[in-house]
Amino acid sequence: MKEESKIVTAGRKFEDDIEIVNPPVYHASTVLLPNAQAIKQSDLKFSYGRRGSPATFAFKKALAELEGGHDAVLTPSGLAAISTALLSFVSAGDHVLVTDSCYAPTRRFCNLALKPLGVETTFYDPKIGARIADLFQENTRVVFCESPGSQTFEVQDIPAISTVAHEKGAVVFVDNTWASPYFMKPFALGADVAIQAITKYVGGHSDLLMGAVSTTEAHLDKVVQMHGLLGSSVGPDDVYLAQRGLRTLAVRMDRHYENALIVAKWLEQRPEVERVSYPALESHPQHSIWRRDFSGASGLLSIVLKHPPGEAVDAMVDSYKLFGIGFSFGGYESLAITINPAAHRTATKWDTSKAGLRYHIGLEDPDDLIADLENGFKRLAKGPS
Ligand SMILES: *Cc1c(COP(=O)(O)O)cnc(C)c1O
Repeated sequence: MKEESKIVTAGRKFEDDIEIVNPPVYHASTVLLPNAQAIKQSDLKFSYGRRGSPATFAFKKALAELEGGHDAVLTPSGLAAISTALLSFVSAGDHVLVTDSCYAPTRRFCNLALKPLGVETTFYDPKIGARIADLFQENTRVVFCESPGSQTFEVQDIPAISTVAHEKGAVVFVDNTWASPYFMKPFALGADVAIQAITKYVGGHSDLLMGAVSTTEAHLDKVVQMHGLLGSSVGPDDVYLAQRGLRTLAVRMDRHYENALIVAKWLEQRPEVERVSYPALESHPQHSIWRRDFSGASGLLSIVLKHPPGEAVDAMVDSYKLFGIGFSFGGYESLAITINPAAHRTATKWDTSKAGLRYHIGLEDPDDLIADLENGFKRLAKGPS
């Protein structure tokens, strides 16, 4: 079955329900058990709200299937998926390797939560590839990848990193939020654990927060156990929204890709722009890895201007009509924020002090988006007000 068909049908068959397209939404903490005997049964599927409901089971199954994993757990946010996954595999005395280009809260979790628990983190150059072998210690348990990197979009050589990690007995995590399960298959590239901020493209409508950790069969028990210990659960209405978002993922992602490529190419030839970081551009330094490992690109990219950061750049951002100023991405709408990658680097050095911006290219008409950006550059040229 082709990807588009899988996205429409994955996880649809759930037990004990009449055959309808969408799973039922149960608002449930208490579930009434059939008899006293059932109290002693540990394998009841639907026994208490926190352990999930038919909508949860259907959605996580669909996600794992699309990402290529065995099964998944759902968390109240993408960040909770990251913390749950990390806590599942480490304990005091362990060491983890984390890409220097990770989502900034991932770094904070390592530094401010794992470190006091006795787990050390080494941040590594996202372009390291097989040379990651040099950074392994006896106690290295996890290699955390995020490809492309947050804000800076370095594409990682996940197959090369996975081969080394598996030789050393470590587990490979991939935060696959940028590509979504539609454009990248982390398990096929060697990942053992895939993390997804459902909040972004899978949800797709900027109206919910959720995360997912999918794993291979071999690693599932650890993650399910930690997820249960932490008491993570997601509300039924959010799961419903998330699975509704999932069903249109393919058409939305194809359009994000189409629009973002048009805008990225336009930005690339603008005199105000020093660099556009978007893996689908031939000028991207790891374009060939992206071409090998991904089947498309999402709507998120960044640029470096020839201008320094400051009032003129802020005035440009304030002048946008279609690009909202907002964190997050993955909804249908376009967004812009100024960024400062230098603040989130320790293993590598961000090589410019010029102004950085991150754009989410939404589902609006790309000509309208370009007109908005062009007006912004006119505002930039006027300088500080
Ligand atoms: C947004 C994001 C997250 C966190 O998701 P939330 O739902 O906002 O907690 C994790 N990883 C990446 C790459 C993200 O962009």
